[in-house]
Amino acid sequence: MSEHFQQDIKFLKGVGPKRAELLNQELQIYSFGDLIAYFPYKYIDRSRFYKTTEINSKLTHIQLKGNISNFRQEGGRGRKRLVADFRDEAGMIQLVWFHAAKWIKGSIKEDKTYVVYGKPAIFQGRFNIIHPEIEDHELFDAKLSTSLQALYNTTEKLKNNFINTRVIHKLQNSLLKSSRGKISESLPSYLIKRINLISREEALINIHFPASQDLLNRASFRLKFEELFMIQMHLLRQKLIRKEKSQGFVFSEVGEYLNGFYHQHLKFELTGAQKRVIKEIRHDLGSGKQMNRLLQGDVGSGKTLVALMGMLIALDNKYQACLMAPTEILANQHFNTISKMTSGLDISVYLLTGSTKKAERNIIDEKLQQGELHILIGTHALIEDRVSFRNLGFVVIDEQHRFGVAQRAKLWKKNVRPPHVLVMTATPIPRTLAMTLYGDLDVSVIDELPPGRKAVKTLHFTDSQRNRVFGFMKKEIKKGQQIFVVFPLIQESEKMDYKDLEDGYNGISRAFPPPEYAVSVIHGKMKAKEKEISMSYFVNGKTHIMVATTVIEVGVDVPNATVMVIESAERFGLSQLHQLRGRVGRGGDQSYCILMSKEKLSDEARKRLETMVNTNDGFEISEVDLRLRGPGDMEGTQQSGMALNLKIANLSRDGQILQLARNEAEKILEADPGLTDDSNEVLKKQLSLNFQKKVNWGVIS
Ligand code: ADP
Ligand code: MG
Repeated sequence: MSEHFQQDIKFLKGVGPKRAELLNQELQIYSFGDLIAYFPYKYIDRSRFYKTTEINSKLTHIQLKGNISNFRQEGGRGRKRLVADFRDEAGMIQLVWFHAAKWIKGSIKEDKTYVVYGKPAIFQGRFNIIHPEIEDHELFDAKLSTSLQALYNTTEKLKNNFINTRVIHKLQNSLLKSSRGKISESLPSYLIKRINLISREEALINIHFPASQDLLNRASFRLKFEELFMIQMHLLRQKLIRKEKSQGFVFSEVGEYLNGFYHQHLKFELTGAQKRVIKEIRHDLGSGKQMNRLLQGDVGSGKTLVALMGMLIALDNKYQACLMAPTEILANQHFNTISKMTSGLDISVYLLTGSTKKAERNIIDEKLQQGELHILIGTHALIEDRVSFRNLGFVVIDEQHRFGVAQRAKLWKKNVRPPHVLVMTATPIPRTLAMTLYGDLDVSVIDELPPGRKAVKTLHFTDSQRNRVFGFMKKEIKKGQQIFVVFPLIQESEKMDYKDLEDGYNGISRAFPPPEYAVSVIHGKMKAKEKEISMSYFVNGKTHIMVATTVIEVGVDVPNATVMVIESAERFGLSQLHQLRGRVGRGGDQSYCILMSKEKLSDEARKRLETMVNTNDGFEISEVDLRLRGPGDMEGTQQSGMALNLKIANLSRDGQILQLARNEAEKILEADPGLTDDSNEVLKKQLSLNFQKKVNWGVIS
């Protein structure tokens, strides 16, 4: 915005240095512009008066009209308070003050009618209002310009310093008065006409001081649209710029490797979704532009296979490929699968992790540089400087959200031009979030599981039903199946968690005693070697039950395991639960996921468990997750300021507005990629203002 809005907030009438400091600290409001973009979280209808008899505990705020009388002191030392009776035609409640009592008592007249506003509370079985707002009814009527009044979030500290929602309301008023004629338009006029928006000035006025419900709706729409649209414009421009300047290796050949694999090694038909995605990738690889593609798909949907086929195309064109995974277990597993799938094809595949021995490393280094090594699979070890390829052309990153941007960027530099990049995630994210987080990437989705999979059945039991669960586990073991039992591990309560794990392990060892049963355990405190041994016992079928913390969350593949028991399931997030469930159901047998929880659950925890019981669809689960938690807490969003700092739009509710914003942004850039047309001048200016504090956003993924 203009210079006016860049002024320090302390210069606003009614603020001053002390309040400014509080606003800085508590709400990150530094400038006029920050304040005007501090939007209300809700509106109350101030034309609506409740009766005292209508109060219930669901109401967060109520407004009453009546008389106040019978002031008295109650309570002993420490809890001393001023109490008064409030009466309307229907009944009576009490008003309570813990401080500023004298002043209040002196200013209220018994024969006057007052408007009382506040949050009802229950004390000794009766409703009261603590520290109500009180206004003379006559004055209230006179100045009631609109029935909708904005409420603003504040903090404890602000309230203690008398900056409450009303004060912020007044500051907004003062700011808007001083801003008349200074709120310039940020969107091109043809766009405003095309989608019928109100002006920016009108929107900002009405978001803080709605003249009517209709104008409030339109103000909110305009501001949400603008917010999402600017982000989409930014992302799409980044993508355009990247495509323009980053030339990619052209992989025009489909040769022996891919054909050999496809015709001789692939034992099953690709799913329709896999075929579609491979086509998309092939198109990118032949385009002359560098590919930057996100591959989303549920656990078990066959992403690895698609990634492998991409790598084979690179090999056919005399380039090397690599695959980076976030953990050693996972890297190992990828190595095994890919080695198996490519055996007999004369492809040299190597594994490089922190545990790779020195002699082996030397061989890898040498072969990499000679170009004799075709596919390198590994962990973070891949990005070390000493790892130098002869001709790296294709990079796959699995579970990309576990890597930092800078880490990933290092792989780009391993050839004269950046290699083609395919990032994969098995944690589906809602479409709206993907559009905002990865809006500058091309996105492919595998939304279809290979045929013949039996959906995992999910059941919820409480701790008191444990014996039934143990009985069921025994039946499955008798059938020759194996079982995971997973305990939560949360950083803050690590000690307690290990205690739980230990108790749980002991309990299971007692219920499943040798020699009939064998139980393995694996957790983060064990040495890598110990983990590996424990894991291999289970993988090779020597133990029936694997008791573990969430270290097994990603990737572990034991097709014979058909039961996943999740202990204290209420403590896991949805995406984690979904990931864990994905560990079973990999073979042909019917699999089960059993969620154990305590009896009493919070509403949110109950909703999570219900969602797990009701659906196996990762995308649906991610939508619920987004609704429950908001984008800030979703896995994978931490790296992006964008989804977190939305001021008014909400990615779980405003999907349609986002889609519109994306479409409009695409249309505009298609017609005028450089935004050089006169009609786009305001837009171009606004974009450079909004994104001048340049986050290193372009290189993400
Ligand atoms: P993801 O990486 O998406 O979790 P994978 O690529 O590991 O999934 O595939 C899971 C399992 O399904 C593997 O055993 C794989 O061989 C098998 N698979 C993949 N695609 C198909 C298909 N089209 N038909 C049958 N099985 C498939
Ligand atoms: Mg996988």
